[in-house]
Amino acid sequence: MSFTITKKDKKTNARIGIFKTNHGTIKTPFFMPVVTKGIAKFITLDILDDIKTQCFISNCYLLYLKPGKELLEKTKGYHNFINWKKPIFTDSGGFQLKNPSFFISMNDKGVWFKSPFDGSKHFMSPEKVIEMQNVIGSDIAMILDDMQDANLSREAYEIATDRTIAWAKRAILAHKNKKQMLFGIVQGGVYKDLREKCAKEINKLPFDGLAIGGLALGEPKESMHKAIDYSLKHLDEEKIKYLMGLGSPEDIIVSIGKGVDCFDSIYPTKMARHGFIFTRKGPIFLKKAKYKDVFEPIEKDCDCPTCKRHTLAYLHHLLRLDEPGVKILLSIHNIRFLHRLLEDSRKEIEKGTFESFQKKFLKEFKKRD
Ligand SMILES: [Zn+2]
Repeated sequence: MSFTITKKDKKTNARIGIFKTNHGTIKTPFFMPVVTKGIAKFITLDILDDIKTQCFISNCYLLYLKPGKELLEKTKGYHNFINWKKPIFTDSGGFQLKNPSFFISMNDKGVWFKSPFDGSKHFMSPEKVIEMQNVIGSDIAMILDDMQDANLSREAYEIATDRTIAWAKRAILAHKNKKQMLFGIVQGGVYKDLREKCAKEINKLPFDGLAIGGLALGEPKESMHKAIDYSLKHLDEEKIKYLMGLGSPEDIIVSIGKGVDCFDSIYPTKMARHGFIFTRKGPIFLKKAKYKDVFEPIEKDCDCPTCKRHTLAYLHHLLRLDEPGVKILLSIHNIRFLHRLLEDSRKEIEKGTFESFQKKFLKEFKKRD
């Protein structure tokens, strides 16, 4: 289990690397689809495998509720239960536990929350999250952090930053599984001093990787990118960096240039379900009448099963009828689009031409409707 940077770009901070886990090797930078409950929304695991997904992320707190610890102990882990041979990340649930529909209360001990399945009351602490991720057997476990919604008072972010640092220290002490890597998370909202303080403290701890959390929650894009910079500046360059929850193609390409190695987001599949699909010439809204007789694939050079078999006209027809199956077809394309974008980024970094690729992509991606 290790992370090795194999090449650094000379003009940007982009880099390519090899991330070795207990279930195989990942080429970085990479994108992880979200497999919340053991399956991605409208995509099965075999399809994720077919479209060259290297790794996905699941959620510790949801797996704790269902199927639950006992069942995952019986199957000797989540990999066996779902029959997935490649690496898996698990998020602690710090983000979802703050959802107003489930959240009850929080203090320095941990978080109390309601099950979205049956309303039952539960508690998660930094230690319990590590213990559960050990049972899940994910290759990469995330610490429990205190994540605040965008647009709260500065005081709320100060408390969350200090709590995240304290919980990170408790997580390190609780983590004993030698087959599982543990990542720390930097919080601090969009505040420069809080981000820097948190990054410096998290960076001091012996984590295998470093994540930046609490962004892409509705804050202005410029503030988000500044917060990424404030965090990255104080993180060990040689460690793998994971930017949590960021999935727009532009943000990914910009962040690769800052030195980020790993991304996850529900954005591509959520967009697909609403009929928005990614192309290198910008996203398109497939419900528009102009696609009703376009007998071409979404992208001619895309190797996804949807583009290899179907035309825009056919997909438009299904979307207008609100056929559920179209959500499968469009989600496949949007995820494969991001995988291809990251594959191309890796090639361009290898060649030393990432900066011009990045500029061209950002210019072209704005062109279409
Ligand atoms: Zn495609």
